[in-house]
Amino acid sequence: MRRRTYGGYRKPVAKKADSSKSVADVVRELKKISSPSSNYRERSLKIHGLICAKCAREFDYKDRHLLTVHHKDGDHSNNPSDGSNWENLCVYCHEDEHSRGLLGDYFSDEK
Ligand SMILES: [Zn+2]
Ligand SMILES: [Zn+2]
Repeated sequence: MRRRTYGGYRKPVAKKADSSKSVADVVRELKKISSPSSNYRERSLKIHGLICAKCAREFDYKDRHLLTVHHKDGDHSNNPSDGSNWENLCVYCHEDEHSRGLLGDYFSDEK
């Protein structure tokens, strides 16, 4: 009987499913996630202006990252194009608005 040597022979390892994903695909997916939020943000700033709805502090265009979009009804997905559910709040007022407890964790993913 001939003895077989198995040295060096390896079962083919299952390829990673992700290896077929191109960088472009990944980027596209990331955009899918982040674009709705950045979209309504810019739109709200355009509609309501670079001013805090609460303390009336005005912001320069370069400081507009300090203004955040608050959803009046607390529903993130409610984004009417006329801006009726948005309020531009500076980060301080926005935090204050949410620190009342109702929507405490809602603020963290809003920005
Ligand atoms: Zn403010
Ligand atoms: Zn808010």
